[in-house]
Amino acid sequence: MRKLHDIKKQKHIALIAHDGKKIQLINWIKANKEILSKHFLCGTGTTARMIIEELSLPVRAFESGPLGGDQQIGASIVEGKVDFMIFFWDPLSSQPHDPDVKALLRISALYDIPVATNESTADFLLNSSYMNDDYIRKENSSI
Ligand code: PGA
Repeated sequence: MRKLHDIKKQKHIALIAHDGKKIQLINWIKANKEILSKHFLCGTGTTARMIIEELSLPVRAFESGPLGGDQQIGASIVEGKVDFMIFFWDPLSSQPHDPDVKALLRISALYDIPVATNESTADFLLNSSYMNDDYIRKENSSI
């Protein structure tokens, strides 16, 4: 069975970057600050703190990724509290919390939320007409 859920015009966006990608994400957020400031932002601990300190945007900070932050964001997706994700993961370095990263990407696919894992996809997402509208996602469920 497929459940249908709205992604509202004002989105709940999770922002995450592995250490090797943090500067790239901060610069991308800086370039898109005006659009992003219209939405609710959250992120893993270190990423969120960097955004708050360097860009003065309000961001709800979860735990740091390796300490469970990815899992908290995954749980928030399940609970419908996060419906959009920008996750600059680093394809060139191994992560101690790799199973959590995989689980987060699995949950985001299962719940059919928009996910950008690199900068060009993030650009395409943020410039989609759906950013200014509601969108019905098609959540997969066997229940
Ligand atoms: P961090 O976590 O923002 O706390 O560094 C990111 C991650 O590695 O998932």
